[in-house]
Order: sequence, then C-alpha cells, then structure tokens
Amino acid sequence: MIMLNEQYQDLTPSYLFAEVARRAAAFAQAHPDQEIIKLSIGDVTRPLAPAVIAAMHKAVDEMGQAATFHGYGPEQGYDFLRQAIGRYYQSFGVELEDDEIFVSDGAKSDLANITDLFDRDNKVLIPDPVYPVYVDTNIMNGREIVYLEANEANGFLPAPPDFEADLIYLCSPNNPTGAVYNRDQLKAWVDYANRWGAVLLFDAAYESFITDPDLPRSIFEIPGAKTCAIEFCSLSKTAGFTGTRCGYTVVPQELVFDSMSLNHMWNRRQTTKFNGVPYVVQRAAEAVFTEEARAQIRASIAYYQENARVIAAGLDRLGIAYTGGVNSPYLWMRCPNGMGSWEFFDDLLQKAAVVGTPGEGFGSCGKGYFRLTAFGDHDKTVEAMERIQKAYG
Ligand code: PLP
Repeated sequence: MIMLNEQYQDLTPSYLFAEVARRAAAFAQAHPDQEIIKLSIGDVTRPLAPAVIAAMHKAVDEMGQAATFHGYGPEQGYDFLRQAIGRYYQSFGVELEDDEIFVSDGAKSDLANITDLFDRDNKVLIPDPVYPVYVDTNIMNGREIVYLEANEANGFLPAPPDFEADLIYLCSPNNPTGAVYNRDQLKAWVDYANRWGAVLLFDAAYESFITDPDLPRSIFEIPGAKTCAIEFCSLSKTAGFTGTRCGYTVVPQELVFDSMSLNHMWNRRQTTKFNGVPYVVQRAAEAVFTEEARAQIRASIAYYQENARVIAAGLDRLGIAYTGGVNSPYLWMRCPNGMGSWEFFDDLLQKAAVVGTPGEGFGSCGKGYFRLTAFGDHDKTVEAMERIQKAYG
C-alpha cells in the first residue's frame, strides 16, 4: 500500500486568515449597516504601473505573430530580465553574475522549493513570529526547527544564538513585525553563518519599502554574504505582481560546501522541476526596472507609505507601542490593556468595525500582538484610525 509523507500530520492547521474572515463575516451579518474596514490586507491593492502594462501588451502581441512567438523559455529566466535584475543590484553596489540570478514565479515557491537542496538532518533556525511558509515547508520535510524569539527586548530582530545551526531564515523588512535589520546586525548573522558553515535564507520581499539609505536592501550588501547566503525577492509588493507572479532568487557561485555548488544544484533543481515564467510576465517584469516604471511604482509605494504613516500617527496618539511602519508596510502593535491577540481582534471589530491580524497566528511569540497593514485604501485607513482613536482614546 502507498506510504504517505506522515510529516504532513505534524502541520498545525493554517486557520488564521480563515478564522479572521469567519469572524468578520459573522460581524457583518449581525451589523449589516456598519462598514468593516480591513487593516489586515497582505495583498497589494494598487494596479500595475502603466509602463508595465504597456510592456505586457507588447509582449502579448508578439505572442500572436509567428515571427515573434515564444514557446518554452530558459528555466532560469530570459537574459533580458536577469540582466535588468543584475543592473538593479548594481544600483546599490552589489555585483552579480547573470547565472547567479534565477527568475521565478514568486518568492513563496522558491522559499519552499529551496528545501530540496538540504539534507533532512540539518537544524533549522526560524525567528518567531514569522511568515509561516518557512516553518511549514521544513515540517513537511521533517527537519528539526529551533525558534528564535523576536521580542520587544531585541527590537523584534533576533541576533545569532550561541549554539550551532545549519539553515537560518531571515526576513527583512519583516513580515509580520515590520522590523528591519541594520548592517551591523546582518553582519553578525553573516559572520555566524560563515563561522558554522551555515546557510542564510534571506527573504527580501519587502526591500522596496526601505527608504532609509543606511539600511541594507540585500544581504549581499554585507561583506562575506556570498559565501553563506541565498536571497529571495519578489515583484509582488515592489510592483503589484501578487497576481501576475514574478520573483527572483540569487544563489552566488561562491556557495560551495563539500565541493557541491548550491548554484549548480539549484540550477539542476529548477531545470528539472520548473519550466520558467511566462514570456509575457518576464517582459512586464523587465519593464519594472525601467526609469519610467520605477517612477510610477514609487508613487504606489509612497501611497502605502502614507497609509503606514497615518496608522503610526494614530498609534502614537494612543500611546500604543509598535514596531515597523517606516521602512515596511506592516505595523506590529502591542494589544492595548493587556488583551490577547484574538481578544483584541474581537474588541476592535465590535468597537470600531476594523479588522487586523492577530499576532499569535504568526507564532507563539505573537501572543498579545497585532498586525496592521498599509495596503488598504487611503481614505479608509484614515477613517479606521479615527474609529480606533474614538474606541481606545
Ligand atoms: N515572503 C514574505 C515575507 C511574504 O510576506 C510574502 C507574501 O506575502 C512572500 C514572501 C511571497 O511573495 P510572492 O508573492 O513573491 O510569492
């Protein structure tokens, strides 16, 4: 009889967003005249930039002509896009070879698939609270996970521990806490990984929200990172590609352990199990890196950043402690009056008809915290903060 991967039984049910939706729907039914405002949206809401749309239209037309039609493309991505990504890295001082850049259908798939390259017996270090994909993919593979507490004392940015680990996940700017590692803090992680021969899996999905020029956008801005880090990035939050799907993963050539190259292994993995991102999408992605599109995209990001500023100002007025919201679309607040995450969720819904995300859904260290996001409509965000002021002021 077939034997299944029993590790799936070790997964905790991912009920967070379903439960949020269920409670919001129950409230809506009981209060049909009250408009619920969602500060829980993790998806972008601004449309694709006109320059991106123009490039996508042109590519669609090319697909309709025999002379310019494209069938299977390179699994690693077209050169035109790999080079555009390479030039983007150069703009903040990081030199990459084209063959170190792998185009993907988004960061989530690559963050999950990268586990193919590592033995089950590696010890995995994951900060808590966390983007749940890191945890669940390693549970599926049966790996030992050690959690690193992200808390107010360490600014939600855990430092390397005093014990050995093999595979370390870092996300900066962080989902859910909005905290961002500075250069010195990342250098400590790079030194730790190089000392133990460990690999850092660095998730830079929110790098485009960084406005402080002193904060690193890429782990490869840190000396020594090319011998210990893989970086995952995405156009989802940068350019509104959550539904269009395109990201990229950087696997340096220097990542060689026991004479095995992680770059070659990832190349082999991708050419075996992945057939590339659609041509049309890659042309749209290429356009993201043009001057014209970058200006348009900056306007969308500025829109979200203004929302984040409104939320932060509201929390400041109430004297509620929070992190994030400056170089990140997320704000991570302590629930007022010592409430638990779900208790505050219900209280906020009842008193203000505002929905956020209970922190404990991101890990046990999220208990007593709450995530608010800047991805909503501006006027609604302003109204939500007015309602919160009335309810808790
Ligand atoms: N990494 C983090 C931290 C995220 O929050 C998300 C999406 O919300 C992703 C990766 C996934 O990005 P993508 O849409 O490129 O799969």
